[in-house]
Amino acid sequence: MKLVYTNGSGILVAQVRGNLEMAGIECVIRNEYASGAVGELAPIDAWPEVWILRDRDLERAQQVVRQLQTDDGEADWQCRQCGNDCPSAFDYCWHCASDRYGSIAPQS
Ligand SMILES: [Zn+2]
Repeated sequence: MKLVYTNGSGILVAQVRGNLEMAGIECVIRNEYASGAVGELAPIDAWPEVWILRDRDLERAQQVVRQLQTDDGEADWQCRQCGNDCPSAFDYCWHCASDRYGSIAPQS
């Protein structure tokens, strides 16, 4: 068993578990009902925790968690030049190097 994620928000913890299960990684939640009443800040050791059952899934589980944390909710964008789907974190298409507004980067 390895701890891969903990957060004061049960919603985020449930989302992490859902994504792990989608990735085929078996996991359990601990402290699920330990947090305090709404509006009351739970001490960090009472936060719900996501544990994976198989240690060998650790690396993949961490990837899933990282992916969720870097997902700022901004949708991917489609390149107007080549139609490639680009992650929201990038301002330029990695395929044809035009920017997300459709202008082509100057060729040198
Ligand atoms: Zn492109």
